[in-house]
Amino acid sequence: MSLEEAFEETKKELTITTDQLNEITNHFVDELNKGASVNGGNIPMIPSWVLNYPTGNETGEYLAIDLGGTNLRVVLVTLLGEGKFKFSSEKYPIPEPMRTGNSPDELFDFIALNLHNFVISQFGEINKIEKPLPLGFTFSYPALQTAINTGVLKTWTKGFDIDGVEGNDVVPILQNSINKLKTPINVVALINDTTGTLVASKYSDNKTIMGLIFGTGVNGAYYDMANEIPKLHGKLPDDIVENNEPMAINCEYGAFDNEWKVLPRTKYDIQIDNESPRPGEQFYEKMIAGYYLGEVLRLILLDYYSKNLIFKDQNIKPLQVPFAMDTSYPSRIEEAKDKSFIDELFLESFNIKITSIERNLIHDLCILIGTRAARLSVCGIAAICKKRNYTSGHCASDGSVFNRYPNFKSRAHNALNDIFQWNCDTKDYPIQLIHAEDGSGVGAAIIACLTEKRLEQGKS
Ligand code: BGC
Ligand code: MG
Repeated sequence: MSLEEAFEETKKELTITTDQLNEITNHFVDELNKGASVNGGNIPMIPSWVLNYPTGNETGEYLAIDLGGTNLRVVLVTLLGEGKFKFSSEKYPIPEPMRTGNSPDELFDFIALNLHNFVISQFGEINKIEKPLPLGFTFSYPALQTAINTGVLKTWTKGFDIDGVEGNDVVPILQNSINKLKTPINVVALINDTTGTLVASKYSDNKTIMGLIFGTGVNGAYYDMANEIPKLHGKLPDDIVENNEPMAINCEYGAFDNEWKVLPRTKYDIQIDNESPRPGEQFYEKMIAGYYLGEVLRLILLDYYSKNLIFKDQNIKPLQVPFAMDTSYPSRIEEAKDKSFIDELFLESFNIKITSIERNLIHDLCILIGTRAARLSVCGIAAICKKRNYTSGHCASDGSVFNRYPNFKSRAHNALNDIFQWNCDTKDYPIQLIHAEDGSGVGAAIIACLTEKRLEQGKS
């Protein structure tokens, strides 16, 4: 097989046609419905217990933390009302070894310590704080919720693998670590990042119909009528049933098609799954999320190398390290105006000297990988729209892939148009991806505030 032939084959495998988009979206709608049914399905469809929409008039001072795939963020948010807010925040990279381990202590003590120091930096001495500060905990993993202040981790995602957390409620784990340092903080709400994004954007933009993360992982949240979620029947307090309140649903749709009915998975996707700490899970996420895009590129290159098509007579050892390329690789390669950047990148990172043919090949592969991710990504959006009969609105979007991967948004909009056939100017597309408000900070603060208000009013 020649290099051209190999590339043509890869191109075919990574190209998502309009027919495929439609087939995937239709199956996606079925899986969303199945997830919300009494027996459940692949997509967890987790009721978040975030009830009703924010009015924009919520006010007060709240702490929030965001434990994401890459960073811990600590935020102090002041909600000013009228859809306005201000905040100050600090970001701490999660040390790589903390992603795995045999006890939750290391990670949660790390969170508590940074939180403690942040509170001191904001308020001065701890004993000057009169009553415990309410904190919203944004936990960007699938946590099953029976109330706003609980969340039992279903499974780790995004390469995390820490013993003693799956099957447990993460709120008391965090609260214990906080209590050890005697920081006056009450964890009042557990929030998924998508739910936070949904609520924060809705606070200032009433056209928001969903909150989406295209980052290290992928997921979406939207509002459904609590009464219309079959698996909640009989589990809802009377006041919620009577008022027919909307509830935010954290879909956890990274798990879409775990039974593998429609996704055009390649051997590279299958390998990524097999070698992951949780094989058989998050099939959709593993094809499109930032944690995996560089790895797809790496596996394709290794495959071509094994067929003696590229990097001939070179020592490729450094490239054989799993996850040696994070998403910034395909993203920077595609973005590079001067393609000699690719030569330098490969030389510096892997000590590989590439030819001009290889340079073009790598660039073209990155376009294919990024385009596939963007096109597959919108199937979740289209499915939620079909399920809820949304024909217009803003999809509040956040995450490293959305914010930094070149052309992601325009490719996503093109794919949405392929599905819905609007055929008008892009700027007039009735459904738009909009950069989200800070979901993990402001969203968590608003949710903490809504929770306090409901408690004060004696509502469930
Ligand atoms: C997690 C979700 C999260 C998403 C984006 C996924 O891996 O399961 O809870 O919303 O990543 O951060
Ligand atoms: Mg995040």
